[in-house]
Amino acid sequence: MDYDVKGNLRKVLGDLPDGVRLVAISKYHPNEYIEAAYAEGQRLFGESHEQELRQKHASLPQDIEWHFIGHLQTNKVKYIAPYVTMIEAVDSLKLLREINKQAAKVGRVIDVLLELHVAEEDTKYGLTPDACRELLDGTEWRDMQFVRICGLMTMASYVDNEQQIRDEFRKARLLFDEMQEKHFADKPYFRERSWGMSQDYPIAVEEGSTMVRVGTTIFGPRVY
Ligand SMILES: *Cc1c(COP(=O)(O)O)cnc(C)c1O
Repeated sequence: MDYDVKGNLRKVLGDLPDGVRLVAISKYHPNEYIEAAYAEGQRLFGESHEQELRQKHASLPQDIEWHFIGHLQTNKVKYIAPYVTMIEAVDSLKLLREINKQAAKVGRVIDVLLELHVAEEDTKYGLTPDACRELLDGTEWRDMQFVRICGLMTMASYVDNEQQIRDEFRKARLLFDEMQEKHFADKPYFRERSWGMSQDYPIAVEEGSTMVRVGTTIFGPRVY
């Protein structure tokens, strides 16, 4: 292993205040890297491809909690529904519907986050703030008994401009507060703000993240 996974993991964990959880993003990294982090006590990992997640879930310890963090096609939901802990990047009502349907089939309630698009870059997936408002102003999600909307996730623009990154996280925070007050005031599980990656997690933490998704800083560069 070229990377000091254990040391890097400890360093990142040391940067996180109480109440902020680490999702160790292990996509494109082999099992031995995950096992090294696991041996240090890390149990929460994130993957962004269904097939890769399927193989890792089957071959690694069963007490690992897996978050699906990538863009998820509706026809793939059925494969991860039996075991996934959280689906972080729900960007349409259609996807939410499918998760509800597949969760019902396996008798689970699946936690999800709505993916919010606040970055200036328009290459990214996610709901605009208005699309997010529209989804939650609608009534359909309220009748979905097998999904639980636990908060929002977002990605900042990939830029060096710290102020821009900060402003994007603030936009996400404002929308989180608005949605919480309007739709989830009586639902304490709506509390997750998933923002912050290797390059910007210290800023994200300052801007109210409850969950950072860090890959490269722990496991090194990905080999695609
Ligand atoms: C890959 C990925 C990350 C981790 O990115 P790093 O820069 O390696 O920390 C976080 N979130 C999402 C949605 C990703 O796809």
